[in-house]
Amino acid sequence: MERVYNFSAGPSMMPLEILETAQKEMLNYSGTGSSIMEMSHRSKPFQAVVDNAEATLRRIMEIPDDYTVLFLQGGASTQFSMVPMNLAQRGQTTAYAVTGVFGKKAWEEAGRWGNAVAVINGKDNEFTAIPKLDADSLPRDAAYLHITGNNTVYGTTWNTLPQTELPLVADWSSAILGKVIDVRKHALIYAGAQKNMGPAGLTIVIIKKELLDRQLDNVVPTMLRYNIHAEKGSMYNTPPCYSIYMAGLMFDWVNRQGGVAALEARNAERAGRLYAALEECKLFHPLAAEKDRSIMNVTFKLDTEEMTADFLKMAQNRGMISLKGYRTVGGCRASIYNGMPNEGVQLLIDTVHDFEMGKRD
Ligand SMILES: *Cc1c(COP(=O)(O)O)cnc(C)c1O
Repeated sequence: MERVYNFSAGPSMMPLEILETAQKEMLNYSGTGSSIMEMSHRSKPFQAVVDNAEATLRRIMEIPDDYTVLFLQGGASTQFSMVPMNLAQRGQTTAYAVTGVFGKKAWEEAGRWGNAVAVINGKDNEFTAIPKLDADSLPRDAAYLHITGNNTVYGTTWNTLPQTELPLVADWSSAILGKVIDVRKHALIYAGAQKNMGPAGLTIVIIKKELLDRQLDNVVPTMLRYNIHAEKGSMYNTPPCYSIYMAGLMFDWVNRQGGVAALEARNAERAGRLYAALEECKLFHPLAAEKDRSIMNVTFKLDTEEMTADFLKMAQNRGMISLKGYRTVGGCRASIYNGMPNEGVQLLIDTVHDFEMGKRD
């Protein structure tokens, strides 16, 4: 079988050349006589893999020296707990912009630790838009403001960051490296790797160094302390070695494409063409408000479930999979991350047009 175009929200496609490099290096990495998977995480060749991955990530994201980069496990979901435990006193107020499924989860987790306030709640417009955030209405004693930079389920994004005096914490899982993110405007950025950066198992945290000096509540488990991971260079325990290696290959690939800005231009252009096709065709309806549309996750509906099923089937026959929308949203979702080839997006656009014209193959 030929390779399919996988539009899943994650894990997602990776560029073929990366998979081929990994394949070539699988049995004998760089003349070491063993695979990365079999290597001690304390070995010199593996330390070089980590060092290179961090250096390249710093270059492509322009991460300033006063930020620490951590390679952690537990997915973005573990960050829902680590953020409040490390940045807020127990019981302290924290501010959450709830703009989707994951923002809601983050807010609920923070509520276990302190007084997590939902400063906006996109539920009122069924999360199809990012509500306006009034900076003056934010609780002044909040430890930070948390946003979900790109809402993977609904296909909305913060096209401009909120103005606030509070330290800004952002979950950029589904857009990191897909568009330029100004690290300096954040106190902390986190992202699971499996959308835009590589395989599952790795979570990247980028944190302002001064935040590592806080005295933490004694109940915070060792493994959930940023400062422990920072002190040990992300090697307090065994890190997700293979996922770090794969993410490193991805960072090199981003670099070879001309960097994040070049990829953002490509991603915006092709997402724009997809949205235009959906707008143009009467049977298709984009879900997200135009001003807040994501260039990574494109959500849309057809008029009936039957029509949706027909469209998904036609796409599947043409080699495009996982276009079904999130279970609570329905409809369709095309996740077009960095690893999705342009040909995949074009094939989807052509299929939308063909379906509209009644050319059902
Ligand atoms: C996928 C996703 C998550 C959950 O990530 P896990 O790594 O599965 O825990 C959290 N936030 C956003 C924005 C996501 O897209």
